[in-house]
Amino acid sequence: MISENIATIQEKIAIAATTSNRSPEDIKLVAVSKRFPVTAIQEAYAAGQTLFGENYIQEVQQKSPKLPEQVRFHFIGHLQTNKAKIAAESCAMVETVDRLKLAKALNKRLEELQNNMDILVQVNIGEDPDKSGISAEDTENLLNELQSIPRIRTCGLMTMPPIEPNPELSRPYFRRLRLLSEKLSKKNLFFDNDRIELSMGMSSDYHIAIEEGATIVRVGTAIFGNRPVRK
Ligand SMILES: *Cc1c(COP(=O)(O)O)cnc(C)c1O
Repeated sequence: MISENIATIQEKIAIAATTSNRSPEDIKLVAVSKRFPVTAIQEAYAAGQTLFGENYIQEVQQKSPKLPEQVRFHFIGHLQTNKAKIAAESCAMVETVDRLKLAKALNKRLEELQNNMDILVQVNIGEDPDKSGISAEDTENLLNELQSIPRIRTCGLMTMPPIEPNPELSRPYFRRLRLLSEKLSKKNLFFDNDRIELSMGMSSDYHIAIEEGATIVRVGTAIFGNRPVRK
């Protein structure tokens, strides 16, 4: 049951937060609904979940009109520059900005809409050739460049570390992302340098990510079950 799964995860989030002297309210749960039908999102919404994650912009476009206005999407996949327009129209946040060109494309549409958008910079913290994201080394430079994009608010960092068989092995990657964010916040490179968003942790390791400072966890399988294959 989706509603029971959400309740269980919220409980575990609260435990991980409390054991690391943090407040559970400081951690947002993104329910990753990619490849699941609108009915699954509706079920989660009925259980109080309003924030969802998708990695194909076409899916956001198809699902959004069928859902209540309160439902918000974070985009968590690779975003092609020519799809930025749709993301600016349909997403509350793009968590995967990894190049200036993409930010500029988002800004162009945001100007027309007279809107601002919260974004995260995706960092390939494990230097994993199979993962997208900018290297830790190049992150400062990109954050500097993003300062000049008026309608983009760089709220923090996101990462997807290499898949590890034991969730404890993800900890060093999460820690590295937090240390990087702390270093960059001292240079005032974020929208709010006293409150930086860190999106890290998925179904198998979100509790570890919270212990290391995650403010956003992205959980799919543990809420919705095994994903259907994309047709
Ligand atoms: C699919 C996906 C998730 C969710 O993964 P689960 O293991 O199903 O919780 C989280 N983050 C990103 C970027 C994803 O693409």
